[in-house]
Amino acid sequence: MSRFTNHYLQLPSHFYREQQPEPLEQARLLHFNQPLAQELGLTLSSEQLLQITAGQALATGMTPIAQKYTGHQFGYYNPDLGDGRGLLLGQIFDAEHTSWDLHLKGAGRTPFSRRGDGRAVLRSAVREYLVGEALHHLGVPTSRCLSLCHSPETVWREQPETRASYLRVARTHIRFGHFEWLAEQRDYSGFTALAEYVIRHIYPHLAELPAPERYAELYREICRRTAALVAQWQAVGFCHGVMNSDNMSVAGETFDFGPYAFLDDFKLHYVCNHSDHEGRYAYSQQPNIALWNCQVLGQAFATLLSSAQIESGLTHFVEHYNQCYLQAMGAKFGLISPATESKHFIADSLILLDQSGLDFHHFFRLLAKLETDEEDQWWAFVGHSKAWREWHSRYLQQTQTLDRKACRTQIESHSAQFILRNHIAQTVIEQCTQGNDTLLANTMQWLQTPFAPPEQLQQQYPHFLHPPAAHQKGLALSCSS
Ligand code: AMP
Ligand code: MG
Repeated sequence: MSRFTNHYLQLPSHFYREQQPEPLEQARLLHFNQPLAQELGLTLSSEQLLQITAGQALATGMTPIAQKYTGHQFGYYNPDLGDGRGLLLGQIFDAEHTSWDLHLKGAGRTPFSRRGDGRAVLRSAVREYLVGEALHHLGVPTSRCLSLCHSPETVWREQPETRASYLRVARTHIRFGHFEWLAEQRDYSGFTALAEYVIRHIYPHLAELPAPERYAELYREICRRTAALVAQWQAVGFCHGVMNSDNMSVAGETFDFGPYAFLDDFKLHYVCNHSDHEGRYAYSQQPNIALWNCQVLGQAFATLLSSAQIESGLTHFVEHYNQCYLQAMGAKFGLISPATESKHFIADSLILLDQSGLDFHHFFRLLAKLETDEEDQWWAFVGHSKAWREWHSRYLQQTQTLDRKACRTQIESHSAQFILRNHIAQTVIEQCTQGNDTLLANTMQWLQTPFAPPEQLQQQYPHFLHPPAAHQKGLALSCSS
């Protein structure tokens, strides 16, 4: 039997409001993520899971609550935030006694809904459902989803859509914005209680340190994980789209998905969010924005820390980001233990990729073919321009001391073949909208082995493994969900 609890209830009662979900009518379970259920040691039947996901029943130990938080949205502080369409049901402990939050998204109105309806639509639910799996199997820390259900109820967005809900699993649902709220309220005891809670559940190795070092280390760890996370986003070509500080998890997991995108053609300043007119959250800006968010979190932590301690956390962000980025991006070029100077080569390569308008993922897959008898494929892809010929000589210098086979393995193991491009997610959504959930189930499975696509994918959807056609590229999405 799975055992649930809600340990957020141990925190002061003004941190949340208890709220029952608004059930979905005529709900149907579209998908149940069995591998994730297994990892969590979850023993619910699919019928029980449907009832929980549809907000019709809860398991013993679950107490649904809406959390209060605030945050900086597009650079401006918004004091009026909180769970407006999701409820934290509680946690489950896996075999290692690690606790995982279960959050029901699309659960109906809460005291923090403002003018919203508290609901989620099928389109955005499917997108979040898929991307958690995509990122996880690329090795990027992320929230994931356990189950997804769909109802024929109409939900109004720009047009009528249908209602969906899903169970989201994450190490925590505590956002940078939770701390921002407590700092703004000058709630020092609440702030300390939340810091202790985060240490207990996410960073238990810090628990033995004396205060205030414990809190300085907590802040530093959050900066560290955030830096590592964003370095990985850059390397897999992932654009989050809405890096507001209320969408940043203190566990350093990718969190709260909106109009995200994986890059198609490499554009350094690609903006996936149609509503982001100034390109604040462009691909190239993600590291800066993550640092900016850590600064905002630092201002909140000034409640407990000196400015020197906060600065030290931020410096750590920069150093750790540079290190992680060099490793992760270097690996894509086949560099094993890249030297610091390789950062210039990497930066120049990306500028040339941008100028050439080449597909980010395909470029790296074909790079593995250099100096094999299939090398022509790479040359045909980049073109035989002077710029690429010069690049090629420079590349050979970068890799001259490396064993070619090891280099190739390094490239191949860091460049996935199956990428959840927006047009693929869109195809899955269209099928689900028409009542056909086979492609959703298949895609969830295919996403588990992105480096070695199964036969079925290669045969049924070969175009999913290639750069998209012109009309399928760079689909920018709005925030509406
Ligand atoms: P998001 O853009 O999803 O990160 O949401 C920003 C804020 O708006 C959060 O406090 C959400 O809970 C709230 N919100 C977004 N959509 C809705 C909705 N349909 N109903 C109620 N609240 C919402
Ligand atoms: Mg959000």
